[in-house]
Amino acid sequence: MPISPIGREKSPNITIDKAALKERLTPIEYQVTQEKMTERPYTNKFYKHREKGTYVCKVCSEGLFLSGTKYDSGSGWPSFFDIIDKSKVIFRADASGIGGNLLLIVKRPELIRTEVSCKNCGSHLGHIFNDGPKPTGQRYCINSCSLEFIAEVDEIDGSVKTEESEEIHHPATLGGCGPDGICRLPPKNNVRDRIEVRAAMIETSTNTLR
Ligand SMILES: [Zn+2]
Repeated sequence: MPISPIGREKSPNITIDKAALKERLTPIEYQVTQEKMTERPYTNKFYKHREKGTYVCKVCSEGLFLSGTKYDSGSGWPSFFDIIDKSKVIFRADASGIGGNLLLIVKRPELIRTEVSCKNCGSHLGHIFNDGPKPTGQRYCINSCSLEFIAEVDEIDGSVKTEESEEIHHPATLGGCGPDGICRLPPKNNVRDRIEVRAAMIETSTNTLR
């Protein structure tokens, strides 16, 4: 999985008319897909969604995830253990959750998340973590706001099918994004780690104020 370094973005395939997009999307959908915000956990559209079908990019309709790879991570956001085609997305190192704090990046490289965005249109989708279930061990933590759902419909009665594979419950352990878009530390971190991280953050904000 090639990950682009921080600050070096690959260009998307298509250019989006931002004004038209603002008309089409809700404010939060626009903020999440275009400004890399994070929607609120638990109350978003697809967190508990169990219909059978395909999740596509909200902006350009590129097919991204199948309902059979969706699972319950307990994180509050739709989680998938695999993607239809890795070449449809861009992986990029993202230090925004720790404010680009250089000291922390050096000391705690595991705090750098990997952002996932749509390769076709450049929209922000979410992040990927290595705490997913088998067989991939990965968790695509994706904003509902970045997705649209295309249901698989029964040919005879036109009803929407429910995903028949049994739902996997595999709790996330590597944290995620808070409703304010800030990456929280995993709750199991020991106290010394927390103090160290907090101290480094205070040091950075003090330096910025000078
Ligand atoms: Zn897209």
